[in-house]
Amino acid sequence: MRWFSKDKPQSAASQGAQEAYPLVSRQAWCFVCDAQRNFTTIWRRATIMRKCPNCGLVFDDPKALYRRTQPTCPKCREPLEQPDFDYGYCDSCGSKFELVEGGKPGLLPNQRQRDEMDKHGKSWSHS
Ligand SMILES: [Zn+2]
Ligand SMILES: [Zn+2]
Repeated sequence: MRWFSKDKPQSAASQGAQEAYPLVSRQAWCFVCDAQRNFTTIWRRATIMRKCPNCGLVFDDPKALYRRTQPTCPKCREPLEQPDFDYGYCDSCGSKFELVEGGKPGLLPNQRQRDEMDKHGKSWSHS
């Protein structure tokens, strides 16, 4: 199903189109819980993010951030959602994942999880 045209992200945004569309809940593997979990709150991102959902920073040039494989907030390193991808929260632990149809969900670590990984010297970035 297509809700918007890929060719016209600008005009869609100017018409006040939704930034994300809610999807029906599904089950996915949460590797934070290390178990198959329900994901009730899931959505498909329609547009690029112009503002950080974590620290509230408004990006000067969001397109520049999206040139990277995994765009992140320059201030707090919050991973940003990408258009055409599905995202959701694990019902059990609240971790945010990028949900890939038929594939392993990718964790988008929140501030606390990033700090934790830093402490252990682990890298979470895709790049
Ligand atoms: Zn979980
Ligand atoms: Zn931020």
